[in-house]
Amino acid sequence: MKPRRRKLLVVDDDEGDRIQIIRCLEESSVTFDCYEASSVHSALDQMRTNHFDCAVIDYHMPGQNGLDGVKTLLRADPFLAVIMSTGQGDEHIASAAIKVGARDYIAKAKLSPVDLRDAIEGAVQQAEIERVLAEQQRALAVFARVLVHDMKAPTQSILGFAKLVDLFLDKDPIDRKKLKGQAQRIAEGAMRMDALLDQLHAYTEADAQPQFETISLDTLLRDVVADLDAVIHKAEASVIFGNLPVVCADRAQLTQLLQNLVGNGIKYCKARRPEVHVEAHRLANGDCVIEVRDNGIGIDEKHFADIFEPFKRLHSHGEFEGTGLGLTTCKKIVERHNGQIWCKSRLGEGTSFFFSLPLVCGEELPAE
Ligand code: ADP
Repeated sequence: MKPRRRKLLVVDDDEGDRIQIIRCLEESSVTFDCYEASSVHSALDQMRTNHFDCAVIDYHMPGQNGLDGVKTLLRADPFLAVIMSTGQGDEHIASAAIKVGARDYIAKAKLSPVDLRDAIEGAVQQAEIERVLAEQQRALAVFARVLVHDMKAPTQSILGFAKLVDLFLDKDPIDRKKLKGQAQRIAEGAMRMDALLDQLHAYTEADAQPQFETISLDTLLRDVVADLDAVIHKAEASVIFGNLPVVCADRAQLTQLLQNLVGNGIKYCKARRPEVHVEAHRLANGDCVIEVRDNGIGIDEKHFADIFEPFKRLHSHGEFEGTGLGLTTCKKIVERHNGQIWCKSRLGEGTSFFFSLPLVCGEELPAE
């Protein structure tokens, strides 16, 4: 994927000053697509259709206070890296600008390409870190909320059935058949919680920095198949693979990834013998793509993206057991390896999950 070109907005009523800033930036070898606005109003207009990484805003604009201008831009985009510019160096204005949210300050009269570059790069980096942190905090809050909700369901059912057991034990004669049924439901609830905790553990493990090593995918898949032996046996499934390449990856994480994908391929299959194929392809750019293909129930195209979201399930527990954390974990692992994961499917015809591993260490892949 090509990186997005960064965008800079210069907000200044003086055309000459705008040109001076843009020229100065060009001389500094920093690459930004530069846009110009002669007022805060025009800047806001452009921000509606463009995502800017940085804005350099003049302190002195007719009828406008530069500090209010900074506040207005930040209200429109709290993570915009705003830099205040003024004609003369003025410590007083600099500290006032920083107080209202500007990240740096430049004096146009003493502007040099190096100073401008340092101010912009520093401000953009800082804003980007804050944006990522805020996004992670938001994702974590959603994750915790859904996790609590999903933990509550089995806990409530265990509590409910335990109370019923208590009531049944008070009756005379004791209905042993009903009692056994309640005990079974308690065990099912506990098992669901146990599975959720296992998946949660796998999900947090995927946060670890990968320990890259050279791995034969054929050997690793043989281990995955051995781990899934009971499941494969029960479903009378076959897992078919061979001639897979050698890759550079974290062994534990790659095992988890393939276990989830192959396991899903077997699980989401009704009324026929599950068959899961694992194959490698080489893309035109040399990347290695692994395909895990099944002959299962398939996935509606409208869910191709959201199935990778935490706790997203397309089926109830009654239909298929699961936690909705498997594919989220896969996505995290693949991204940790600088790759991408996606799926193709047709309802009723089966599904292919693909993931790319850019770090192939050697060994020829079959050409496409
Ligand atoms: P789960 O624990 O529910 O299996 P996943 O995150 O692994 O959670 O998958 C999310 C959802 O995506 C599943 O609930 C299922 O509806 C769908 N899904 C995943 N893999 C497949 C597959 N191979 N075929 C059909 N549907 C699938």
